[in-house]
Amino acid sequence: MDKYQVLKQYFGYGTFREGQELLVDSILMGRDVLGIMPTGAGKSLCFQIPALMLDGITLVVSPLISLMKDQVGALNQAGIHAAFLNSSLTANQYYKALGFAKQGRYPIIYVAPERLVTEEFLDFALHSNIVMVAVDEAHCVSQWGQDFRPSYLKIVEFIKRLPKRPIVSAFTATATKEVRDDIIDILELQSPMVITTGFDRTNLYFGVMTVKDRYSAIKNYLETHKSDSGIVYCLTRKQVEEICENLIKDGFSATRYHAGLSDEERRKNQDDFIYDRVPLMISTSAFGMGIDKSNVRFVLHYGMPKNIESYYQEAGRAGRDGEPAECILYYSSKDVITNQLFIDNNQDNAELDPVTRAIVKERDRERLKKMTFYCFTNECLRDYILKYFGEYGSNYCGNCSNCLTQFEQVDVTEIARALIGCVGSSRQRYGTTVIIDTVHGANTVKIKNYRMNENPYYAVLSKVPTYRIRQVLNQLQIEEYLFITSDDYAVVKLTMKSKEIIEENKQIMMKLAKEADRPAKESQSRSKKNKAGILGNQQFTDKEESLFESLRALRIEIAREEKVPPYIVFSDKTLAHMCVVKPKTKGEMLKVSGVGEFKFEKYGQRFLRCIEKFESN
Ligand code: ADP
Ligand code: MG
Ligand code: ZN
Repeated sequence: MDKYQVLKQYFGYGTFREGQELLVDSILMGRDVLGIMPTGAGKSLCFQIPALMLDGITLVVSPLISLMKDQVGALNQAGIHAAFLNSSLTANQYYKALGFAKQGRYPIIYVAPERLVTEEFLDFALHSNIVMVAVDEAHCVSQWGQDFRPSYLKIVEFIKRLPKRPIVSAFTATATKEVRDDIIDILELQSPMVITTGFDRTNLYFGVMTVKDRYSAIKNYLETHKSDSGIVYCLTRKQVEEICENLIKDGFSATRYHAGLSDEERRKNQDDFIYDRVPLMISTSAFGMGIDKSNVRFVLHYGMPKNIESYYQEAGRAGRDGEPAECILYYSSKDVITNQLFIDNNQDNAELDPVTRAIVKERDRERLKKMTFYCFTNECLRDYILKYFGEYGSNYCGNCSNCLTQFEQVDVTEIARALIGCVGSSRQRYGTTVIIDTVHGANTVKIKNYRMNENPYYAVLSKVPTYRIRQVLNQLQIEEYLFITSDDYAVVKLTMKSKEIIEENKQIMMKLAKEADRPAKESQSRSKKNKAGILGNQQFTDKEESLFESLRALRIEIAREEKVPPYIVFSDKTLAHMCVVKPKTKGEMLKVSGVGEFKFEKYGQRFLRCIEKFESN
């Protein structure tokens, strides 16, 4: 099988996403790789596909038990033999799995880092053909990262013990240079192929709300998103408990998660959420790393996280299926103080020497400042985040609360042409006020004295308010279509670029503050589109909506039988796709994104019948 066949057959996808193919190819050529891709981009496939094609066993190192369980569950559902080895297994189960592993039953084995250098595991590894070690969440090797795990340092030690060095592949969503360099150095990657894909997650809507009563605001939001699954992040355990309790009192189905709960309760609550038994998870930042639940439709923050890295990671748990999802931060100035206290009392850095500790503290304060600015900025929120990670956005994404309420993208070509034309025809002698008054058609003494009322551009913009003309003039200056001299007269001059607008008919779009009397875009309509509209801009008909619900019900039923989370059976996106295509045959069903050969064999017929029944009604 080639990589495309593996992609379709096991995972049900027709095409690779950005970066995936190059990573897969590099690994298949025997090269070390480092894949830096945002949460939800699809890092797992990058090592799982080569693992199925290479001759030998791939070990996947992963920091969290829940993560391993989830991924192994997904692989098993796709018809792939995979297993995990970690402390959640009893000694019996562990030895049994290790026994199967020795027989070569599993091409993919997930293993906790602290297991790697244990005697039993080494005994297995030294006598097997380990062809690749894939390090997931690789930022855990770095002290600079959010989640440093000393046990990750054992990975290199382990690799060095192997008789033949395997391919080492590493994956993370953390983009900063320090972390990237650390991963390469500490894991001793050998001339790795480093691939960073864009950090933009276009399907996510970003919003910041500063409200008096955050609880009511969140409650209102939840009222209009009742059938969706989502996470509410809080800063403290106490907040988690209060909000969860209140929401339950107010009739919502919600569960909670924080480090102060018993292991048992945490496991149960997490499962309730993942298995779609409870749609709402109220938690601290302790919840989430490695949660692959793909149908999280919103992530609300009751409180501002300590830095943009954390925020983007947490918010990024929404919409992993690539479908529209919303990330809203409810800000209060108290959050800054809470976070400052966290920084001052951070116990994680207790083992650092005083100088390093001071540096780390300073760095944390700086990050907190940047996070706070995010809550204040009038700029495009997506742009702000992307800039933080060193990327450049478009200044206007049209899918964040600032773009939708503060700004709009306006075609100002006509205004720009009039201004430039006026400057040119009056031989570049006048200042901004004269130019603006001329095009606007002001009837002043100055205009008459300069005989600008005879200028061909006089009053061509009489309907446009002068403040708007001035905004465009400012923007033309910023973009160097006009130049204003810095002497006392501030004379407006043409530039090399001016002619692009006049002669080449260049269109000029500008991000402008919204007119106050325009209503802000209805958030209701957006959320309705999101709910049904799992298909981007397309809306479901009522009939499709109810087919979607039936397919969801069937999915839950199958998930129960298979004891896996519903989204592992099929994602929301796959179900939505079925609603639109309404496949009648196996062939048609296999064309639906997310339906592979193996899953079709398992339950394709049941979905076909469900659709058929629906169509005949
Ligand atoms: P990451 O580890 O980068 O956060 P995952 O590997 O968990 O992301 O993948 C996120 C989601 O994207 C999963 O539901 C996965 O099935 C889906 N996915 C991955 N690759 C593709 C692809 N090529 N086409 C469609 N969906 C994909
Ligand atoms: Mg992942
Ligand atoms: Zn925006």
